[in-house]
Amino acid sequence: MECDRYGVSDRTATSFASVVLQDIGIVHEGEASHVAAINFAAGWALERNVKIKVFSVSKSSIEAIRSPKVKSNFVLSVTDNLYNAKDLVSLVWVKTHAGNPGNELADHFAKIASSCGSDMSIPAPYSYVKKVCKEFLMNEWNSYWKNSTTGKRTKEILPSAILDLLMSNKYVIYLFTNHGPIPAYLCRFKILNNPDCLCGEHGDVDHYLTSCMYTKDYHLVLPTGAARTHWTRKLCKNYLFLNRLKSISEISRKICDDLQRL
Ligand SMILES: [Zn+2]
Repeated sequence: MECDRYGVSDRTATSFASVVLQDIGIVHEGEASHVAAINFAAGWALERNVKIKVFSVSKSSIEAIRSPKVKSNFVLSVTDNLYNAKDLVSLVWVKTHAGNPGNELADHFAKIASSCGSDMSIPAPYSYVKKVCKEFLMNEWNSYWKNSTTGKRTKEILPSAILDLLMSNKYVIYLFTNHGPIPAYLCRFKILNNPDCLCGEHGDVDHYLTSCMYTKDYHLVLPTGAARTHWTRKLCKNYLFLNRLKSISEISRKICDDLQRL
């Protein structure tokens, strides 16, 4: 804040800066702390009817305050306060850690405030809550996935939970789980007496994907290890690949029907 230019005493300036910077140091993550400090400065200037210039290192906070698209009630309330103080307060962005003495002083006070500042309650923005919830759910999911003893095949392909593989395409689920209209799976449920294919080999998903003579027009070369996760992730969004999986599945279903009639 440029106080000397507007006739504010050094002492007042220092104590104001200290309060604002304490706020910067104690609040929780995100840009809300910067917005809160700017809001405090606007209230301070309005109360004393003095012109101030607020230097902030947070470009996104300044942009949020200026944006007509912001939905956060907290930012909107700050925008209202700034509008009321529009002739008194101007906002300027400064680069952080660029040797700017004011910024260095701010960092100094922020460090002090982090150990002896008072608590300040700032509502968390929706995007922040969403991020925290997502992280929590992914950690829970991954922990469950890691500790579960079932789904060995799926774990080989997908060692950890990946959000973009949440899908309902049944052919991809057949591929991941080794379930579906294949002799090996139907035999487990006694729908078929034998897990083997009509060609005589073991009738699991990989057999139809790679070696069965009845599906040779659609065969694939399956990568192993970590490459398989990457391959699966990429191909499961490929329309041609999904169609190929569908064709293979239709053939294996027909084979199962034939085996049932034998
Ligand atoms: Zn076969």
